Amino acid sequence: MRILVTGGAGFIGGHLAEKFSRDGHDVVAFDNFEPFYDVGIKEHNVETAQRAAAEGDGSYELIEGDLRDEEVISQYVAEADVIFHQAAQAGVRASVKEPQKVNDINVSGTLNVLEAARDSETERVVVASSSSVYGKPEYLPYDENHSTTPVSPYGASKLAQEQYARVYNEVYGLPTVSLRYFTVYGPRMRPNMAISNFVSRCLNGEPPVIYGDGTQTRDFTYIDDVVEANRTLLTTDTADGEVLNIGSTDNIEIRTLAKEIRDQLSPDLELEYDERNDADAEHTHADISKANDLLGYEPTMTIRKGVEEFADWYRENRDWYEPLVRSS
Ligand code: NAD
Repeated sequence: MRILVTGGAGFIGGHLAEKFSRDGHDVVAFDNFEPFYDVGIKEHNVETAQRAAAEGDGSYELIEGDLRDEEVISQYVAEADVIFHQAAQAGVRASVKEPQKVNDINVSGTLNVLEAARDSETERVVVASSSSVYGKPEYLPYDENHSTTPVSPYGASKLAQEQYARVYNEVYGLPTVSLRYFTVYGPRMRPNMAISNFVSRCLNGEPPVIYGDGTQTRDFTYIDDVVEANRTLLTTDTADGEVLNIGSTDNIEIRTLAKEIRDQLSPDLELEYDERNDADAEHTHADISKANDLLGYEPTMTIRKGVEEFADWYRENRDWYEPLVRSS
């Protein structure tokens, strides 16, 4: 299949491009190398996917372009059978500083993709959404019928994005699916995330710093489980027009995560606490039964094993990855 991965040099997009090209598909990764966090990591994402294509049966092409340029993105959308739309300005805190830029990329950029797909023979557009569309929980775990009251510009932009995807399915018959990811982690993850920060500090003999009292809860979802959910959508049409939670098997408090990492890497350290950021959701927890029913989605990675795998990868890639974590 010809697959377009927007944000293909990013964390999740990079893993998708790697998997699909290894599996024998012809992958185009489209990315503007947005310097939101150091672009060095994106170069590693690209190299990994290139290697996978060389070792596997597929092909890989990197296009440096901006989603906000309608003419450019339309051309690559038109050539693809399936589109995995990952490009976004990710991150809650950054969105509080630059809401208009976030809207331009996440909402108008998505409209560019959907509009081009509507005019093409696109088989499916899979949109990367986020647990941050839910906002304050009325009950947990969130199912997809839970109200959506995002508490950040980022969450609002992801909600608008998935509503457009749904409307394009209803009004124009374009097959679209939105996947609400819950805190994705794993090798080559964005360096400004709690797990990469905790691992880095513990390996350097520094206590992990928790924002707030650490009772915030998250589903930490391992990247391989996320890739698998996306991969199913290459061939499954049962979820067209739907939004699906893509979470994990474990829902844990941030302080439990910090303890797990500390216990694995540097057991003598005491945890430290700092002021909480109000834009961060207090609790997120996914009910994944809909994704299980429609896609057969069954995440397999436990947090203990996932942290172990990530820490092993971190040690092997410490020379280039650690400076990115330390400066983010
Ligand atoms: P990422 O920042 O690593 O990847 C996003 C990529 O999009 C980057 O490589 C960036 O350069 C590219 N990009 C940004 N603006 C662009 C533009 N205008 N044109 C072209 N490319 C552009 O983030 P990620 O963690 O891989 O997230 C991928 C998707 O998943 C995003 O849509 C994000 O909102 C969503 N998501 C991620 C998580 C998570 O925990 N990582 C959780 C929920 C949702």
